[in-house]
Amino acid sequence: MTLNADANGRWIDPGRVESAIQQLSQYGDHGETGVARLVYSPEWVAAQDQVAAWMEESGLRVERDTVGNVWGYLDGRDREQPIVATGSHIDSQNPGGRFDGALGVVAGILAVGALRERQGQPRQTIGVVSLVEEEASRFPTANFWGSRAIVGRITPEEPKRLRGYDGVTMAEAMRDAGLDPARVEEARRDDVETFVELHIEQGPYLEREDVPVGIVERITGYRQYLVTLEGSANHAGTTPMDLRRDPMAGAAEIISGVINTAHRMGRPCVTTVGRVIVSPNERAVIPRQVTFTVDARSPDPAQRELLLARHEALIDEVARRRDLTVTFRIDSDRPPVACDPDVVAAITAAAAEAGVPALPMTSGAVHDTMQLAEIAKIAMIFVRSRGGISHNPDEFTSADDAAAGTEVLARTLHALAYRS
Ligand SMILES: [Zn+2]
Repeated sequence: MTLNADANGRWIDPGRVESAIQQLSQYGDHGETGVARLVYSPEWVAAQDQVAAWMEESGLRVERDTVGNVWGYLDGRDREQPIVATGSHIDSQNPGGRFDGALGVVAGILAVGALRERQGQPRQTIGVVSLVEEEASRFPTANFWGSRAIVGRITPEEPKRLRGYDGVTMAEAMRDAGLDPARVEEARRDDVETFVELHIEQGPYLEREDVPVGIVERITGYRQYLVTLEGSANHAGTTPMDLRRDPMAGAAEIISGVINTAHRMGRPCVTTVGRVIVSPNERAVIPRQVTFTVDARSPDPAQRELLLARHEALIDEVARRRDLTVTFRIDSDRPPVACDPDVVAAITAAAAEAGVPALPMTSGAVHDTMQLAEIAKIAMIFVRSRGGISHNPDEFTSADDAAAGTEVLARTLHALAYRS
């Protein structure tokens, strides 16, 4: 126990977490409780400036890297050692809620500020990072832009090639925010030993279990397909059913089939078809082409492989039987990531020390932490989401739950960076 702990023994004040979230949500505020803060927009730049100001007020040394990630450091005694880092993203869905990503940044600053006040200088430097663009809400395939830059996974031509929903290229957007797109590679680093991200759960598990905090042991793997079926467009009244090459009939069979497959295989498998494009999209015409997305996930490597194999076999079988031309493109593909057992153990011990009830769980959402897994030992702390709702202005986490998670984060960072 520390000597100067507050009356309730906690290091983190729920009121401070709440007011920081409230203040940050004013940048790009949308309706009553929503946020639309797209990467490199003026609102986003102002929010990143606010984050940098808070870091300075908390006594951290602030640096900005060449993609716009803001880093705040509590320097350790041993500057030769790699750093222990935490953080998340401040861009949002369009619109999203106030907690997704933002809470991880606020929690990191408050946790490290509390450590500085209560514990003094750590042995290893602790870094808090406010990451650029996790959501891909402005640029369709730019997910994890900031964390990808850190691990060196942005190709030099990408900033020019990526074009946003508003028609602006990533390179132009970066220049608008005062950054030089030719220097993205300089954001790469190899000195992060451990990365712990705090994030809202974005699902119903913790609420159902009536526990405020989750300790993530695995992050799901996923594959996203774009499937295109082509047949022949024709008159809806004069073409007999047995003479049709109807891609809608094939799509209906495949869509219901992949969803049922995930259902039959059971939790934690999930498959979603979220987008369908029909051409022509007319009442009295058999369509010529139907294109749809398939997003399939499981945190278990073997189960994910089986799920994907079943989906691909079904797509082929239906297309062949219905005499349709099929193409499928894999848009993104990531195997599941296991969190580091030692970091998971440190979080578990920190929750016990703080008296915060916590349960082990898997993450069905993907996060920046998955990228960081390429260079660092990783783990995540989840906090309860009311109603399991996220990517929506109704997203809510209570100040007590947010502070409980932040408390666990602070004590985890303490265990990792102050040990001698
Ligand atoms: Zn997020």
